[in-house]
Amino acid sequence: MPLSFPPLVAAFDITSACPLDCRHCYLEKRSDQDLADGEWRLKIQKIRKEFPFLVRALWLGGEPLLRKNLLAELMGYFPYNSIFTSGSIPFSGLPENCVIQVSIDGTESVHDWIRWPGSFAKTVSNISVYPEGKLTIAMTVNKWNRDSLAEVAERFANFSPKILAMHFIFHTSRGVSDPMGLSFEERAEVVKTILKLRQKYGNFIMLTSKMGKILENQTALVHGCPFVTGTAVSFDSMGNRKSPCWYGKSLCSHCGCSIAFEASAENFFDFPSVRQMWRVFRNFP
Ligand code: SF4
Ligand code: SF4
Repeated sequence: MPLSFPPLVAAFDITSACPLDCRHCYLEKRSDQDLADGEWRLKIQKIRKEFPFLVRALWLGGEPLLRKNLLAELMGYFPYNSIFTSGSIPFSGLPENCVIQVSIDGTESVHDWIRWPGSFAKTVSNISVYPEGKLTIAMTVNKWNRDSLAEVAERFANFSPKILAMHFIFHTSRGVSDPMGLSFEERAEVVKTILKLRQKYGNFIMLTSKMGKILENQTALVHGCPFVTGTAVSFDSMGNRKSPCWYGKSLCSHCGCSIAFEASAENFFDFPSVRQMWRVFRNFP
């Protein structure tokens, strides 16, 4: 039986626009469907009243940094914030109460093939020139980049003290015919590789043994997902509720989303996982 709490976390697509066109993107990118700045302010005030226990906001897109000024303002409504970015836009000018999660999807050639030519160098450059603030790396693992996990972990574990952790997301496929999706057996092999990396890099690697167990059992993953238990809610770029989650449609049967297994209700009985969840929840370290 899942634990029952009111929503503590809200995810917002602050824009549906994005300068990139990644092969794994699940969004229809149309900036003409975004709320205007004033409309977002009113919407957030309304959501704060409707869900008074929200303590963390997740800011997504599209590319959320396209609306950096508005984003910086709206982050003031929440004690803790996470920004999910491709890293294609400089990070400066953001308030302190946030962690910026930057997508790196493989070594340079693999990342650029998945995202955009030159995007790896641009992202690394933006990380390098961002002296203040907290960063994490997020790698969406798929058929094309699963062999580059160790190289990416090594590069970013030693890159800079401001990079605090590395998250792994498993490509949430649209079914068995999705060319990027891993089978459950392949996913289990990747989990073993990641757990070996955790032995080497410790808590820098977010995925714990317990999270690996959850990933072996899709039913457990779905039942523990905060969007399913109701501790997380999601809103599209028009401020409307997205159901069941940020994907906007149910992809649960093939989901490998990190929030589903990192913040799973199942983890509440596992100390290493609770520790990792607590780090994320409190903006690290
Ligand atoms: S950066 Fe994100 S929103 Fe933009 S194309 Fe890539 S996956 Fe889609
Ligand atoms: S698709 Fe994944 S993140 Fe969305 S509700 Fe289902 S399990 Fe949760």
